[in-house]
Amino acid sequence: MLRRRNLLQAMVTAAVGSGALVSTASRAALAPPPRSNTASTARRLPWRNWSGSQSCLPAAREAPATVAQLQELISASEGVIRPVGAGHSFTALVPTNDTIISLARMSGVISHDADSLQATVWAGSRLGELGQPLHEAGQALINMPDIDEQSLAGCLGTATHGTGASLGCMPTFVRALQLVDGRGELHECSANNNADLFNAALVSMGSLGFITQVTLQNTATHRMRRETHWRSFDEIIESADALADKHRNFEFYYIPFSGMGFTDAHDLTDEPVGSTEKLDPNEGVEDLKLARDLMQRVPKLRELVLGSYMRTLDSEVKIEQSWNNYASERNVRFNEMEYHLPREHGLAALQEIRKALESQHREVFFPIEFRYIKGDDIWLSPFYQRDTCSIAVHRYFEEDFKPFFSTIEPIFRKYNGRPHWGKLNTLTRQDFRALYPHWDDFIAVRRQYDPQGRFLNPYLQQLFGQTAT
Ligand SMILES: Cc1cc2nc3c(=O)[nH]c(=O)nc-3n(C[C@H](O)[C@H](O)[C@H](O)COP(=O)(O)OP(=O)(O)OC[C@H]3O[C@@H](n4cnc5c(N)ncnc54)[C@H](O)[C@@H]3O)c2cc1C
Repeated sequence: MLRRRNLLQAMVTAAVGSGALVSTASRAALAPPPRSNTASTARRLPWRNWSGSQSCLPAAREAPATVAQLQELISASEGVIRPVGAGHSFTALVPTNDTIISLARMSGVISHDADSLQATVWAGSRLGELGQPLHEAGQALINMPDIDEQSLAGCLGTATHGTGASLGCMPTFVRALQLVDGRGELHECSANNNADLFNAALVSMGSLGFITQVTLQNTATHRMRRETHWRSFDEIIESADALADKHRNFEFYYIPFSGMGFTDAHDLTDEPVGSTEKLDPNEGVEDLKLARDLMQRVPKLRELVLGSYMRTLDSEVKIEQSWNNYASERNVRFNEMEYHLPREHGLAALQEIRKALESQHREVFFPIEFRYIKGDDIWLSPFYQRDTCSIAVHRYFEEDFKPFFSTIEPIFRKYNGRPHWGKLNTLTRQDFRALYPHWDDFIAVRRQYDPQGRFLNPYLQQLFGQTAT
């Protein structure tokens, strides 16, 4: 998102009197770790998540092509089975040394209805694979997160969200789903058919079965105007709530040690598809790392350089089909903590976070992301019955995230935050139980559909296992 990086590099260089910018070696260090394949094989294939912070060596990695094959695999296998999507969660939801099953081969649109604007899709579909076929059917997802690499089932698993004060998280778009439980049995459910299973399954971290098909409430295809503006932190704090109510989608980022951030708003438009320039936040992140590396000991100079540079940046506009106008590529890897706070506390919490970060953690350079999400009625949704602000903090994937996250997490908790299920946190089942009024209802349904605990790896065993209340 940061543009004109040559200017920033020149300013940093001038400020620190160094001719050396980013070396080839440090560029290589920014490169993502190698990805592993998902395949059925007798040879053990290690699995790791996107950031490389979670890994395991499962006895089997399977990718069934049909529901019948999935049922057969569940019945024939022994030990723990974990569903995996695109491996983009940071928490230990997937790792097991027994069996990992991906539904990547069960993807695409199955059917659609022009009147209701609903479509039934395979749950293994990556979000990015759904845009074009839904578009051809005259439909588009109501909202999307900031990348489109995730599988649909993975998004449901952790209550993945985009931003928009009047828009819910992704599970709120689901009207019906199909699930294979821990005994290999197939169930259909919706709000009117097996409602408890439906509610529990919508956000369930793959702990009560494999979601195989999903019927989504979509919207008609539409173009979106996306506009970014650089603003001072104080101006953002002043205007954020009003901007969130004004725009269909609104979020902002604060850039640590700069006093500056940028707002990012989406609205429906009739304008023709316009700038095709790709908004690439990664370029900017590399430059922020450079500024950190060279000016960590002189925060005032860092703020002067970064802030001066950012004040030179122009607004950017991109008009595109909606499904092509949400996601960015994230090639600079990181680990992340994100908490969902009651909306009324979001901006106060952010101000405290900024203060803690800039007074205690000069090593941090990733922007802080701030989003708005509408409340819902899903038992394990972090947005359960409250309109929400989400605040996300990040650490570069090669650097220890614990010191920074342990400074910030108490601020999130002070404001009664609920962590994103896929992002790092230190909460225990007692903590979660206090945050979720339907925790015990969820546990009861989970046990009914997975009586032998087939879906419980060590992390989920701690949350939902037999000793859990
Ligand atoms: C770069 C990056 C950007 C991100 N941006 C956002 C964002 O904008 N908003 C947001 O909310 N989150 C975001 N996330 C988090 C991400 O959306 C979630 O962690 C999401 O769950 C990842 O989906 P996945 O397909 O990778 O699933 P995985 O991480 O592989 O799995 C997630 C959960 O889903 C379960 N699961 C997978 N498939 C099935 C299935 N078929 N049936 C039942 N359960 C299943 C798994 O068992 C697991 O519990 C981001 C993560 C990264 C790395």
